[in-house]
Amino acid sequence: MEIIPGIYQLQLPLPFTPLGDMALGETLAQTNVYLIRGGMGWLLVDSGWNDSKTIEVFEKGLKEIGINFKDISQIVITHSHLDHFGLAGRLKELSGAKLYLHQKERRFVEPRGIEAANILEVMKKWLYKNGTPEDETARLQRLPKREMNFISPVFPDAVSFSGKLGSPDIFFSGGERISTDFFNFEVLWTPGHSPGHICLYERAKKILISGDHVLSRITPEIGLNPFSSLNPLDDYIKSLKNLRELEVELVLPGHEDYFDNLQKRIAELVQHHQERKEAVLEILKNGPEVAYEIAMKIPWMPQKGGIPWEKLDPWGHRMALMETLAHLNLLKKEGKVKKTLKGDFEFYSIS
Ligand SMILES: [Zn+2]
Repeated sequence: MEIIPGIYQLQLPLPFTPLGDMALGETLAQTNVYLIRGGMGWLLVDSGWNDSKTIEVFEKGLKEIGINFKDISQIVITHSHLDHFGLAGRLKELSGAKLYLHQKERRFVEPRGIEAANILEVMKKWLYKNGTPEDETARLQRLPKREMNFISPVFPDAVSFSGKLGSPDIFFSGGERISTDFFNFEVLWTPGHSPGHICLYERAKKILISGDHVLSRITPEIGLNPFSSLNPLDDYIKSLKNLRELEVELVLPGHEDYFDNLQKRIAELVQHHQERKEAVLEILKNGPEVAYEIAMKIPWMPQKGGIPWEKLDPWGHRMALMETLAHLNLLKKEGKVKKTLKGDFEFYSIS
């Protein structure tokens, strides 16, 4: 689909409905990737899930545009989650293109140094100290393989998988320029959903390729875990607010539909996290709690009337715990909440 002259969107299928990637209870049907016309070669933004079905859709899409893999000379990946990065290695092989990723994503895509047993142990201790019941810990520390592959190769079952991922040629640090002769993009570092998430901004044409940083309906998942940055929600709100200065008329996101009103969407997302922080504070009025207990009491998906805790699967519980901790951590930074160790457990209370 040609969205504006020179920019094509391909909608790639997702192999299953990821409950977790974005927001609890929401479903995603597709990953969007963008093919952008160039003088000497085309630019591809994001790659999709690594399976044969995706390759088929790619081939069909390229044919409709009238190009082939060899016409792609640059591949920019917004972040290392495998619905965006998964196919990068194969596409790099097929096209001979240069592959770009932000340097903060490096440790997620390089298998070296990742020790599966160690990661499991770290995750187990982390779930335990946050009050996760023992039977749930066993389920939560090791997720079903396909979900694990989906999120990030840092997780143990995905270690072998990560060996098949493409290795980036160039790591961004933010502020670089990517040109196709017809379009000139600036690399904006937008951490939050992932530590090295980037957006691409075409200043003259007022276009933002937003990855999973801003989507038209779903709230991107921002979770704290042993492998995230120290305060991902703080990172996220700051990098969202930085986008407020930009003049944008077209947002091209990694999922769902493209849209035009970036400022309105940013305001909604900031408001959502404000409300969630207030919900957490409300729960803490009844006394100190561990994060797992707080997560159980939060009204998830309030726009859908709330989803009861029992209706969420183990994956949903873990996402909920990570999101709750991201909010607690930001409240702690703002001086509204404090953390105390009681025995083996980390309790949160109003300060
Ligand atoms: Zn995604």
